[in-house]
Amino acid sequence: MESIVITVTSGKGGVGKTTSTANIGCALAQLGRKVCITDGDIGLRNLDIVMGLENRIVYDSVDVVEGRCKLKQALIRDKRLESLFLLPAAQTRDKTAMNPQQMTALCDQLREDFEFILIDSPAGIEQGFQTSIAPADKVLVITNPEVSSVRDADRVIGLVESAGKGPAQLIINRIIAARVARKDMLSVEDIMEVLTSNVIGIVPEDEEILSASNRGSPVAISGKGAAAMAYRDIARRINGENLPVQMPRSGGLLHRIFGRA
Ligand code: ADP
Ligand code: MG
Repeated sequence: MESIVITVTSGKGGVGKTTSTANIGCALAQLGRKVCITDGDIGLRNLDIVMGLENRIVYDSVDVVEGRCKLKQALIRDKRLESLFLLPAAQTRDKTAMNPQQMTALCDQLREDFEFILIDSPAGIEQGFQTSIAPADKVLVITNPEVSSVRDADRVIGLVESAGKGPAQLIINRIIAARVARKDMLSVEDIMEVLTSNVIGIVPEDEEILSASNRGSPVAISGKGAAAMAYRDIARRINGENLPVQMPRSGGLLHRIFGRA
């Protein structure tokens, strides 16, 4: 079975890495693919909470690496999507608990059982970034439509390339069409002038995301909003479908695509 390890990262924190990992993982599982999502951020895990699986954790990825349990004992099967599993990261151990070689070996083990392995990586400046991209076949960089976020994304795209993991693919998250139209937010075109990476998806700002995180049930599972649809489209592209990204030709078109934003 051909398997793909996808690392989700960004230049700085708080741009939507965990949200994107959880939602793309759910949407790929809904397409019938066997998916494992895991946290590359030792010590700062939150993928389990966004997924609503925090109460079911017994072992974590460091326990597997250090031989305290078998991989299968650490994997948590999602009750809503039966081909989706979470491999939790350790919460309290130090961040050096997993090195790039160990992460790669862990992913090699996961490749035997899963078609897609998604790693929620720390941002490029943080410790744990190199560990998270080491096993990657594909790297997704998340950015927000803000100058500082785009600048930091540019930097991390360079890091991805120098690690031999490029070209990174870009997700632009939290676009608000009305603000783009008023020219008080960067447009997709503005961002693409700076970042030469391929855009694999554009996710609008959507308040459904926040309530979904609080409920522990990512929007991609049953959400009806624009962000849920955007994440399902990203998953279809990752799954090999030739689904063009709707590029706004003007602020007005973005508004039509993401009607409510
Ligand atoms: P990171 O993992 O990069 O630190 P998160 O995924 O935790 O970022 O997202 C940071 C915050 O932004 C969270 O509160 C999340 O709910 C919110 N958020 C992320 N994407 C969106 C979106 N498209 N619309 C609204 N809120 C979002
Ligand atoms: Mg996160």
